[in-house]
Amino acid sequence: MEKIYDVVIIGGGPAGLSAGLYSARAKMSTLILEKEKTGGQISSTEEVANYPGSIEHATGPSLVARMVDQCKEFGAAIEKDEIKEVRTEDNIQVLVGEKGNYYARAIIAAPGASPRLLGVPGEKEFTGKGVSYCATCDADFFTDLEVFVLGGGDSAVEEAMFMTRFARKVTIVHRRDTLKAAKSIQEKAFKNPKIDFMWHTTIEEIKGEGIVESVVFKNLQTGETTEHKAAEEDGTFGIFVFVGYIPQTELFKGIIDMDQAGYIKTDDNMKTNVPGIFAAGDCRVKSLRQVVTAVADGAIAAVQAEKYIENTFHE
Ligand code: NAP
Repeated sequence: MEKIYDVVIIGGGPAGLSAGLYSARAKMSTLILEKEKTGGQISSTEEVANYPGSIEHATGPSLVARMVDQCKEFGAAIEKDEIKEVRTEDNIQVLVGEKGNYYARAIIAAPGASPRLLGVPGEKEFTGKGVSYCATCDADFFTDLEVFVLGGGDSAVEEAMFMTRFARKVTIVHRRDTLKAAKSIQEKAFKNPKIDFMWHTTIEEIKGEGIVESVVFKNLQTGETTEHKAAEEDGTFGIFVFVGYIPQTELFKGIIDMDQAGYIKTDDNMKTNVPGIFAAGDCRVKSLRQVVTAVADGAIAAVQAEKYIENTFHE
């Protein structure tokens, strides 16, 4: 007989880890499944300055490591597997993974979101060879080099500032002439002498031989294109893309109600339209996607899962 967990959580980011903590502390048998590495997006974030209680210079990875330890301390299991299918059989949720099947009385979906690609020629070819989606991971490779950061939101501007610690010069390339990032973040960026801006501009193509050597910019007002080539002494430069995220909810398409962009619809109790399936974190339709809201979602989802299990299985 296969083990039936009380709660299986899909995703090991802040929402999933918080759900795991609350679920395990409530003495429910709890399994967190993560397809890559625990932590989600936060593990590639250098500074987490806006999480209450975060001390100065607290990094994403250190926060995640503490969350993981706390989850394990209370008995949650964390395993690596990618779930390919979810179905309900006699009130039990069946999760079909690459490594095997898992059974649960309740599922908490916390799959997060992944970086949106620009979708231009050369982007995929040069990912890891000059094109990056993670400043914490790759900024170091561009020490004393030039870097372009695509996007105008919080991620682009914050990561651009982080990159000034390494790069010689950082240029934020944005498709409009006003940033979307929070005013407080913008102010710091405008004051930073190492940051320049290219407004009304996007990237049309990334070129090189084995490594990024040039980029074609397009001015969206004039339609004019210009090719920027790496300085001879550098040979290359960096292109960091931060143009938003896409919810990783493919698994639940056709099963759970979502909005047009693929974010999962829930009520205030993190309940989806499917009994026994809850959702938490960035995958959800919500107004603020932050660690603080993700962990809150996770806690609510776990408490509600406990209530659901009590009402459905223990009456
Ligand atoms: P975002 O807020 O969705 O911003 C995406 C940016 O990319 C926008 O400026 C957008 O331009 C631009 N963009 C989108 N598609 C593009 C394309 N195809 N080509 C060129 N530019 C494109 O994404 P984010 O900055 O990653 O932030 C995601 C969420 O995380 C937000 O809720 C944000 O507040 C949060 N976050 C918060 C912090 C923090 O508070 N410390 C840090 C990071 C992220 P337009 O402006 O023209 O739409």
